[in-house]
Amino acid sequence: MEAILYLAHAEADESLPRAALEALRGARSLAEGLGGASLTVGVIGEKAEPALRRIAGCGSKRFLCVQGAEFGQARYATDALAAEALCRAAGATIVVAPGTSRMARVLPGVAYRLGGRADTHVTGMSGALAVTRWFYRQRMESTFQRTHRPWFILFDPGCLEAWEGEAGNPSIETLSVDLPDSSKRTKVTGFVAPAADEQTIRPDAKLLFVAGAGWTKKQPDGQAHVKEAESLILEFLRKTKASLGGSKSLVDQSGEGQAILHFMTHLNQIGQTGSTPRHPKGLATCCHGEEPHAVGWRFINERRAVNLDPSCGWARGKADVVYVGDAFQVLAKVNALLGGT
Ligand SMILES: Cc1cc2nc3c(=O)[nH]c(=O)nc-3n(C[C@H](O)[C@H](O)[C@H](O)COP(=O)(O)OP(=O)(O)OC[C@H]3O[C@@H](n4cnc5c(N)ncnc54)[C@H](O)[C@@H]3O)c2cc1C
Repeated sequence: MEAILYLAHAEADESLPRAALEALRGARSLAEGLGGASLTVGVIGEKAEPALRRIAGCGSKRFLCVQGAEFGQARYATDALAAEALCRAAGATIVVAPGTSRMARVLPGVAYRLGGRADTHVTGMSGALAVTRWFYRQRMESTFQRTHRPWFILFDPGCLEAWEGEAGNPSIETLSVDLPDSSKRTKVTGFVAPAADEQTIRPDAKLLFVAGAGWTKKQPDGQAHVKEAESLILEFLRKTKASLGGSKSLVDQSGEGQAILHFMTHLNQIGQTGSTPRHPKGLATCCHGEEPHAVGWRFINERRAVNLDPSCGWARGKADVVYVGDAFQVLAKVNALLGGT
């Protein structure tokens, strides 16, 4: 009989990240689909008990944690020891976890220590014990099973509905984990991140705004208007809190010494060699490429594009609606309609 361990980490504010609640739904569905499988939950964190109380109604009979100041920070050595202890205590044959950066970094190594196998970027389940994920840059979807145990399954954020249920006061077993000094050599001293307004990649945004190289090309007056493009796009992002994606041609420009949108980096690139984010809506502007349209926003539900060229094949082929117009004028009008400063 399968023994499922749901494994997550608590945040500094003692909550569980949204991705963890999504993975919990996955773990529950798996346990239900497998009939007699047992479900244990395990949480790692400086204070893990509040997170366990929050998910008391998830149907698990056993609540485990590894907690203490040393487990507050995302550090491979201590996280790996904690996760290993939880897996052993639960006698887990299947481990379900959220694909957060903290878990994705540590669980493949834990699987190796336990002689198991790990699958990251899992996007869903199919049948009783088959999971799905994409391969070859999201061009092929595979459904597969594994007979090898333990099997670690990390669900990508945004693929499942978050679990909702009753909080409670379950009996919690706290495991003690010996930490050799060597495991504490790395200290997380802080985070360096752009100010919220400069952060243009927002995975939780309702809208993905895709900028193509057209924003930096010569316009009908024979001139490029890169500064104007920058301010129009930034104003739009500030007002809508949309996430910013870019075509490869646009993000590559910085390396070619051309006039660039200074906030656009390779991290913004979407497409075959970029990312494939998940947002409810997408708006592509000044963008022609196949990869951004066919691959980059394939998981966007409602897609629109603004292009000067009425025959722009990829915009026509992949967008639900194409506005044939000048994106400079369109965005200026949209920004004005959005109001504010
Ligand atoms: C192996 C491989 C992998 C690749 N991977 C990726 C990838 O991951 N992501 C990616 O993006 N590309 C990728 N590419 C490149 C891709 O094929 C295209 O070359 C690229 O996406 C084109 O970028 P673009 O649409 O921004 O620029 P362009 O092709 O130059 O298109 C600019 C568009 O802007 C429009 N335009 C100009 N001015 C305006 C205006 N004022 N208003 C409205 N529209 C205007 C033009 O009509 C035109 O359609 C890859 C290529 C290869 C070979």
